Amino acid sequence: METYALTLLEKKHIADFVYSFRFAKPDMFVFTAGQFVQFAVPSSDGSLALRAYSISSIPGDPYLEFCVKMIENGVASAHLLRMREGEEFLCTKAQGRFVMNDANKPLSAVATGAGLAPLLSIIRDQLETKKTNHEIRLLFGVRMEKDIFWTERLNDLQKTHPNFSYQLTVSRPGQSWEGLSGRVTSHLPTPGQDDLFYLCGNGEMIKDVRTILLQEGASAKAIKFEIF
Ligand SMILES: Cc1cc2nc3c(=O)[nH]c(=O)nc-3n(C[C@H](O)[C@H](O)[C@H](O)COP(=O)(O)OP(=O)(O)OC[C@H]3O[C@@H](n4cnc5c(N)ncnc54)[C@H](O)[C@@H]3O)c2cc1C
Repeated sequence: METYALTLLEKKHIADFVYSFRFAKPDMFVFTAGQFVQFAVPSSDGSLALRAYSISSIPGDPYLEFCVKMIENGVASAHLLRMREGEEFLCTKAQGRFVMNDANKPLSAVATGAGLAPLLSIIRDQLETKKTNHEIRLLFGVRMEKDIFWTERLNDLQKTHPNFSYQLTVSRPGQSWEGLSGRVTSHLPTPGQDDLFYLCGNGEMIKDVRTILLQEGASAKAIKFEIF
């Protein structure tokens, strides 16, 4: 197995049970925006457990960034929570087909929770590296306000790139929430002729969103998804 050593540069608590991790990018490590690696973390019986995590940074960044939802009693979650800056562990080479080959089209991205990770990479890559002029829309759904993260980054992207816009929806908001509410399924855009749809999050969301998009006339070929 081809492996790389990842050295932790920075760990940040960004939302309830969600952390971002930045690692020094190993020499020779290459990836395409949207891909994931498998972290090889030591488990209690001494073996290495492999767990998939999507890269949220772009190939041009000098670091590798991840956004991790901590799972109760999760082997990788516990290991990552304990990790301190300067410590290292192994990961596999980048893999996965959740990438944007057909870049010359408008993109509608739908993410829930940590599903934002590969989509942020794809969106930044399209805007900052490929310098696309096509419209890019993101619909980002979380359960509660305490689950919101990276909106400053999304606001900055929106300010810098007029062809990018995003909407945030909270499915179980508190009384003071003034933004969009409800599941992402309530706020899907009407599919345009050339639109590509990239969906990432839990399996139920992807099934529901895909069903609606197909009913609204999107072609199955235009919908790509990654289930976490
Ligand atoms: C291609 C791919 C990319 C992924 N990218 C990311 C990412 O960028 N960020 C991220 O946070 N996650 C991501 N995931 C999900 C992540 O790999 C799993 O949640 C992983 O199992 C967590 O490992 P763990 O060792 O902490 O928990 P485990 O030891 O694997 O699981 C502990 C317990 O929690 C359950 N469990 C595991 N995952 C979940 C879950 N998501 N929701 C509810 N229960 C769960 C297990 O069934 C088990 O009972 C990705 C998954 C795939 C397939």
